[in-house]
Amino acid sequence: MHSQEDYFLLDLSVSNSDLAGVNLTDAAAVEDYIAQQARLQNSKVAYGGYLEERNLYQRSQHFKNESIEERNIHIGVDLWTQAETAVICPIDGWVHSFKNNDSIGDYGPTIILKHKLENHTFYTLYGHLSLESIKNLKTGMLFKKGELLGNLGNSSENGDYAPHLHFQIIKNMETYKGDYPGVCSKSDLNFYMENCPNPNLLLKIKN
Ligand SMILES: [Zn+2]
Repeated sequence: MHSQEDYFLLDLSVSNSDLAGVNLTDAAAVEDYIAQQARLQNSKVAYGGYLEERNLYQRSQHFKNESIEERNIHIGVDLWTQAETAVICPIDGWVHSFKNNDSIGDYGPTIILKHKLENHTFYTLYGHLSLESIKNLKTGMLFKKGELLGNLGNSSENGDYAPHLHFQIIKNMETYKGDYPGVCSKSDLNFYMENCPNPNLLLKIKN
């Protein structure tokens, strides 16, 4: 969506002491913090978060269940920039499924593409899109590399986050449709690291 110089690495992990002063439950506060970092870095798109352990999810029941270990390790990459920014398809793919995952803290509008490279099938997930992005989609539709897949949603439609794309590679979709876990618990990490390799394999952001 931009050239290499437009990306800067953003640390949203529990070890970033800067975040102590940011209300992570407030989408607008997070958006302001990221915009401020972008100005400091003279850059446009904050990215990062693969295998990052985060406090970001503690507000949402979506990631908590008293009987289950907390899910707070992020297994995709996030690209933070303005709402409505175009999301460009990184590789040819067919629409596997799409859905508006509309609980607070969830993905909001989400698209999953299916890809074939030589004999390998794998999937990519695009979360926190605008509602418009999934309006005229059909399962099986082909998107070519470089085509407009959708646009970033705002906090009223994207699960109540500062605008960003959650991008994740998934080898085995299991039985999921329009959804797939984007964070996991420590005890499931080995499985998810294997099933969801580093998204930068496709994005190739340097830094
Ligand atoms: Zn994410």
